[in-house]
Amino acid sequence: MTYKDVLKNSIRTFEDLEKWLTGRKARVDPRLRDVIERYPMRVNSYYLGLIEKMNDGIWKQAIPDVEELEHYMDLTEDPLDEEGDIPLGGPRTIIHRYPDRVLLFVSIECAMYCRFCTRKRKVGDEHKHPSTEEIHRGIDYIAAHEDIRDVLVSGGDPFLIPAKRLDDILTRLAQIKHLDLIRIGTRVPCVWPQRIIEDKELIEVLRAHTPHSLNDPQLYINTHFNHPNEITEISFQAVKILRDLGIPLANQSVLLKGVNDDTDIMRDLVHALGKLGVKPYYLYYADLVEGTGHFRTGIHKGKEICRDLCGATTGFLRPTYVVDAMGGRGKVPVDLGYSEGISEDRRGGIITSAIGLGKVYINDPIERIEGKPKRHNHNLQRK
Ligand code: SF4
Repeated sequence: MTYKDVLKNSIRTFEDLEKWLTGRKARVDPRLRDVIERYPMRVNSYYLGLIEKMNDGIWKQAIPDVEELEHYMDLTEDPLDEEGDIPLGGPRTIIHRYPDRVLLFVSIECAMYCRFCTRKRKVGDEHKHPSTEEIHRGIDYIAAHEDIRDVLVSGGDPFLIPAKRLDDILTRLAQIKHLDLIRIGTRVPCVWPQRIIEDKELIEVLRAHTPHSLNDPQLYINTHFNHPNEITEISFQAVKILRDLGIPLANQSVLLKGVNDDTDIMRDLVHALGKLGVKPYYLYYADLVEGTGHFRTGIHKGKEICRDLCGATTGFLRPTYVVDAMGGRGKVPVDLGYSEGISEDRRGGIITSAIGLGKVYINDPIERIEGKPKRHNHNLQRK
């Protein structure tokens, strides 16, 4: 089966889903038809094959659920107010929230429509597909704003567009002198790795856009794995091709109830990412998106998991837990909760050992002293 067939062999309609669920002796709720009408479905044959059992972490991310029709307090279509960050009178392909970074929206299509998606309001909606002209207007906007040093090429999934179109976008971006970074946000290494392995034209485009000198913008790929079972030999081969091109890769995960809201699963995920050669970068607290309430955990859950990961894994494999604040206020790293205040002499603080070795006093290195150092830390002071 070619990479194109993998996508062609997706379940997309209620009838496809009914047949698939019936084959697994799972209940077919007629309301699933409404779910799919409201939020598009696409589960390709590769990702379907990762499901081991009903309602496992792969199933939940891919298979529509009647819970998507439920309403929850505070959930809205666009909780991050991305539409509000489209420049006034400017191209709708630009989301400009931070002074030096923008998001360039190039596609509404994805290799799978994840049930928890923050952009559920627009992915898979043909009417919202950006035209070439709109993408060019977005690039012109970036060129006209010299403060912008970093662009995230996103969607939908930029690796769903034809290689020639991606080449055109990257070529135009590379000509903008004030850009330092071009990041591509894609879930393809996770959900459709065959495209990277087999589409040589895509790889040649990426190769052409890796930097040749410090004057060229650096190309990064942000990918998105949420569960250790998503990391397979095939995804390894896809990631290896990207790494062999010299492209640095980092991973963003979303904390999802019933998928990865568990320290053991998260530890397995970050360990597997380590083997993949992809740095776990962010763990997102799930956004307040209409249709995704059943995926939400308490905010404390991510703190607990990240706290448990301290001492349980290699430091650089521990992602930063962030909340993307409502209304476009940006990402906030959430305190891990290890700090327990400062001492009375204001020369340090007390932290709790991540591996259960009690509390430790840490000095602030604020004073330059003459002579032999005296320890402020009373625990360590030799008698
Ligand atoms: S691939 Fe990304 S943009 Fe597409 S549906 Fe999944 S989470 Fe949303």
